[in-house]
Amino acid sequence: MTRTREETCDMDDMILKVNHLSKSFGSHKVLKDIDFTVKKGDVTSIIGASGSGKSTLLRCINLLEIPTSGEVSFHGENILSRKGGAAAYRTKVGMVFQSFNLFSNMTVLENCMVGQTKVLKKNPEEAKEVAMKYLQKVGMAPYINARPRQLSGGQKQRVAIARALAMNPEVLLFDEPTSALDPEMVGEVLSVMRELAQEGLTMLVVTHEMAFARDVSNHVVFMRDGVIWEEGTPQEIFVNPQKEETREFLSRFMER
Ligand code: ADP
Ligand code: MG
Repeated sequence: MTRTREETCDMDDMILKVNHLSKSFGSHKVLKDIDFTVKKGDVTSIIGASGSGKSTLLRCINLLEIPTSGEVSFHGENILSRKGGAAAYRTKVGMVFQSFNLFSNMTVLENCMVGQTKVLKKNPEEAKEVAMKYLQKVGMAPYINARPRQLSGGQKQRVAIARALAMNPEVLLFDEPTSALDPEMVGEVLSVMRELAQEGLTMLVVTHEMAFARDVSNHVVFMRDGVIWEEGTPQEIFVNPQKEETREFLSRFMER
């Protein structure tokens, strides 16, 4: 008998659990009975066609959408009933967006400090030290006084990643972090993400970068029409997919 991921997972290692999650907008069922788990150290890639519900799933996990039914739990606790509300939860489960979402009226350094001082209540000296550490890590330390509008897309996204890391999250969610970038800037962002994965950061990444999904993640989820159509290791999904639709999606994708 093969055991499911969940059965082979030590409870202490289980960070996020998505349980019978459904989400509708009006009569449109966008997510239908989604179940999956994120364990400590997992790098999960979510792939699938546009409109399949990937962003809505990530948004439910980040409390940007409220599920119609089912739940998301973080260390066994429903995220809707956790103490401290959304702001406290999002320090643990951070998110990086396709469109960067930096604060345009703040410098690079201020962007990476504000959450630490406002939400984590750190003093400015400590917040600055942590911000500098992560800005160095993503290669953006020389730009601390720049405003977002002065940066390229790749630079903005690296600042957004540093800002998320400065909150010391347990999990980082990425929603197509390279989709808004000019092609020549995709690599610099992916290489930062690859490094984070190698250091053991738990990541959940919606992406069309199939090479990243195949080479960096340990778990791949293929979504179609609001359901998890197939999931498995990169080997299982990319080399030996079981479902016709998975095969079709991948071959259509590779053609482009
Ligand atoms: P993906 O990220 O896979 O492209 P989304 O989760 O963004 O898919 O969207 C899935 C479906 O849900 C789409 O048909 C989209 O139009 C719809 N949708 C997403 N957000 C909303 C919303 N706030 N109101 C109504 N429909 C929405
Ligand atoms: Mg999307």
